[in-house]
Amino acid sequence: MTNPLYDRFFGIHDGAQTPFLILPDGGEITHDAFLRMAARFAHGLRACGVAPGDRVAVQVAKSPEALALYAACAQSGAIFLPLNTAYTVAELAYFVENSEARLLLVDPDRAEDCRQMARAAGARLETLDARGAGSFARIAAEQPERFETVPRKGSDLAAFLYTSGTTGRSKGAMLSQDNLISNALVLRDLWRFTDRDVLLHALPVFHTHGLFVATNVMLAAGGAMIFLPGFDLDRVIEMLPRATSMMGVPTFYTRLLDDPRFTRDLAGHMRLFISGSAPLLAETHRAFEDRTGHRILERYGMTETNMTTSNPYDGARIAGTVGQPLPGVELKITDPETGAPLTAGETGMIEVRGPNVFQGYWKMPEKTAEELREDGFFITGDLGQQDAEGYVTIVGRAKDLIITGGYNVYPKEVELVLDEQPGVLESAVIGVPHPDFGEAVLGVLVARPGAALDTEAIAAALGDSLAGFKQPKALVLVDALPRNTMGKVQKAALRETYADTFESR
Ligand code: AMP
Repeated sequence: MTNPLYDRFFGIHDGAQTPFLILPDGGEITHDAFLRMAARFAHGLRACGVAPGDRVAVQVAKSPEALALYAACAQSGAIFLPLNTAYTVAELAYFVENSEARLLLVDPDRAEDCRQMARAAGARLETLDARGAGSFARIAAEQPERFETVPRKGSDLAAFLYTSGTTGRSKGAMLSQDNLISNALVLRDLWRFTDRDVLLHALPVFHTHGLFVATNVMLAAGGAMIFLPGFDLDRVIEMLPRATSMMGVPTFYTRLLDDPRFTRDLAGHMRLFISGSAPLLAETHRAFEDRTGHRILERYGMTETNMTTSNPYDGARIAGTVGQPLPGVELKITDPETGAPLTAGETGMIEVRGPNVFQGYWKMPEKTAEELREDGFFITGDLGQQDAEGYVTIVGRAKDLIITGGYNVYPKEVELVLDEQPGVLESAVIGVPHPDFGEAVLGVLVARPGAALDTEAIAAALGDSLAGFKQPKALVLVDALPRNTMGKVQKAALRETYADTFESR
């Protein structure tokens, strides 16, 4: 194989008149038409001065063209660097500078604001809008429909995905072709994706979930994707009858459950619903099964590792767990201080090793050394347990662990108890500075629609389930928890908001 990533995921579809992308307006793009667009884009990249190994930074709306840029980078040997569409120009400047990108592609609306920054960073600036128009599209339009694939090795880098960087600077996770290929093939087989599958795709394509998990798996399987610009409830409900499967973040599933149109009949024909990127509440898992008869398959992974665990296709999909390590992936739970392995049922740091684990952080050798051990185990920063059958339960991010008066409190344990209280829809538990205890436990609650929460009664009820030091020293009510695009609760933002709760008392 001359270029494993391109050959395995894209090249295999050369000439195939089978549908690849099904668009909201009902239009379809075949595998072959997609490859022709990608080839023109690969020429376009070359025309913009992009050479193999160069970074192509892309902040554009989700569209078939955005995905074709990924294929074009693979075919021309460039490194694809997709960026969250929510980033500001100032944030973009960091990524372009840090990655030393050769080319920056943005929406035409942004071009003026980016021009100076791109010039200062030495990057060429071109544009592409949500409908696939813009200066880059014009360059590509004149190019041939065939591009001679640039030879690459499996160990060559295919993409940089920057971590969301809730603490400190965002880091560029370097992913090799083999990282992506190995993971997609394992997931395709484990989840039984074939060319008969049609995946409902409402995720963004700048993140590992929508870009690599969804797209690479479907490319490897030869199936099609209903490619929606975002999660629009009406559109999802309208398109569901055409799908066989769906991948989503937990909020997709809670939003579907909130809608009476989402019935057993509507979901009956589906083969598989998959959830990840943030914790799926056991309650949502049960409510989904009650409504549809389907047990959501939850899996776990991260930017740096691709996917690492999954509930089984055939065996027990256990609510509240993220399943077992994927074939070829080793996982251990270790003491966060010493790194010594712990036994089944003990809570500690989740570490993983395998062909899925990234190559390190771009230009940050110290950070890489802190998180990637010499023996290849990556210290995920997630705390969890593994039971005797290998099922992993995530307790939360290590940096969210609360240490109050010298005792460790795992927010998840407290959140599960709060969530069961009358009238509570959901909760987030954080540690905030406290003059006596160092940190104090604080509970942030969201009420169910129409419910009035009695925080005193809730506080009083916690004594039955939680030791005193785990009980929140204060409960606050909010309309909604702050979440990022992937549905993750932004605990750093909550810690900031409530930082003075006890200091000022
Ligand atoms: P990202 O790198 O943006 O994909 O974020 C990865 C992080 O999301 C992981 O380290 C976990 O903390 C969290 N995560 C991903 N999948 C799950 C899941 N199924 N349950 C709980 N947390 C998850």
